[in-house]
Amino acid sequence: MSMALLSAENLTRHYRKPKTRLFAQRDVLKAVDGVSFELKTGETLGVVGESGCGKSTLGRLLLGMDEPSSGAVLIDGEKTARPGSNAWRAQRRDMQMVFQDAYGALNPRRTLGEQIGEPLDIHEIGDLPSRAMKVGEMMDAVKLPAAIAGRFPHEISGGQQQRVVIARALIMNPRLLVCDEAVASLDVSIQAQIINLLIDLQVERGLTYLFISHDMKVVRHISTRVAIMYLGRIVEIGPRDAIFSTPQHPYTQALMSAIPNPDPTIRRARILLEGDPPSPVNLPSGCRFRTRCRFATELCAAQDPALRPMPNGSAVACHHAGSFPA
Ligand code: ADP
Ligand code: MG
Repeated sequence: MSMALLSAENLTRHYRKPKTRLFAQRDVLKAVDGVSFELKTGETLGVVGESGCGKSTLGRLLLGMDEPSSGAVLIDGEKTARPGSNAWRAQRRDMQMVFQDAYGALNPRRTLGEQIGEPLDIHEIGDLPSRAMKVGEMMDAVKLPAAIAGRFPHEISGGQQQRVVIARALIMNPRLLVCDEAVASLDVSIQAQIINLLIDLQVERGLTYLFISHDMKVVRHISTRVAIMYLGRIVEIGPRDAIFSTPQHPYTQALMSAIPNPDPTIRRARILLEGDPPSPVNLPSGCRFRTRCRFATELCAAQDPALRPMPNGSAVACHHAGSFPA
């Protein structure tokens, strides 16, 4: 068995809401509510789901930017180090995050070159000439012209800003990159360029990605495996092609049916989901998807389904998956 770079073991993150009434119990919002999976070296796990389903919270938990309410994150099979310790800092250096808002992640008053090289300054790695050389190498790796090193963030395009952020994230040679909606605010053509850059960098540098997105087309392009989240849980996870060609969970099936197909001769029936997702403060009994599910039965209201393996290689949290058409 090859060891996972990172594993999540029954992770939860529950937020206590402020009291609204005297003597009332405080409501608990279950942002992440029992998530387990493994991330293997070199793979790209796409994490998809509607806004508010817990994707960003999961990303923060994995990187130690937030503490789980229960459960654990293992790195190379070991418990993550105590926050603030030297071992913890080393682990954090190995795992970097790229967010949606590249401009917001940059300091408007510092040059691009300075910001790409900032981690080397902070960790006092090498002398100034060697740092400058490393910045040049990184700019080359993310296909930024060396001539713009002295410019400022507002002087370059959104796509270039995201390249700067990626260069800065990679300059310390991390092993894992968590991308949280990293291309969501870019034009479609620029999105494709950044995705292709990420794929090239992954091959060149042996990187592992967790790629969070609400956009199924983007996830399909970059992922080797895909996890579908609904209300703080993974409801389906498996190899990319299994998830996209034979989705097993009724929620995944609905998401897939909503992807516009570029080939007009192939027409999939659109499955409409009724209503909005329930509040993560007040989850339905049993299966959390049952209130919107076409196949729900009494069993679904009574029992919370665990992930179970399916013949197509995926795992699905649904009592009835396999007994209705994929
Ligand atoms: P996503 O990234 O999938 O849109 P998030 O992880 O940002 O979802 O949020 C999941 C749920 O947790 C949402 O209901 C959100 O309002 C809630 N949430 C996120 N962060 C906090 C926080 N710091 N305090 C309270 N609730 C939060
Ligand atoms: Mg988010």
